[in-house]
Amino acid sequence: MKPLDKKDIIILSELLTDGRISYSDLAEKIKLSVPATKSRVEKLHEMGIINAFTIDVDFSLLTEGRPSIIAIKTLSKYLHETMGKLYNNKLVRKIFLSGGKYNLLLLTHYITDAQKSKLITEIQNLEVVEDLEATILYEELLEKKDIVVIEPKNIKLICDFCKREFSDTIFSKVIGLKKRYFCCNVCLSEFEKKFEK
Ligand SMILES: [Zn+2]
Repeated sequence: MKPLDKKDIIILSELLTDGRISYSDLAEKIKLSVPATKSRVEKLHEMGIINAFTIDVDFSLLTEGRPSIIAIKTLSKYLHETMGKLYNNKLVRKIFLSGGKYNLLLLTHYITDAQKSKLITEIQNLEVVEDLEATILYEELLEKKDIVVIEPKNIKLICDFCKREFSDTIFSKVIGLKKRYFCCNVCLSEFEKKFEK
């Protein structure tokens, strides 16, 4: 598959600024027909580059508290299990695997100090957690909405089951907290079966 071109980048940055932009406005910006624009957007969606057309809510106006970042150190053999438990906690917004002293980073939703203390206690009570450190984020000051693709990469789709490179129809599904891509439905269901074991 080819790397993204300039028109794709324009599509992405327009959609980031306004997810409700019409295909005809989008088509005008990239100087393509509406059907051609539509199929590019669909392709970006299929490839998993666009995950969802969503809205940007200012949670600071809705709820008390602030987000926190919690860095956690857990034994690597329990990493997956710990991730699953943390993912099920409704106060947790995002989980990153990380390197260095800690191997998991959590970003919480907007939570109060009391909720944060409770969450930290819950995490500390997980036996496999060896260490943690929490940082409060005081205020979100600036977020850049523009897209910077410094080194566009060749997009290679490798089937997560048969490991072949493929380029036409994409089958994807979240399995084990991660979005996986397959060349066909058979590979998808085989992977799922194997994963469950
Ligand atoms: Zn396959």
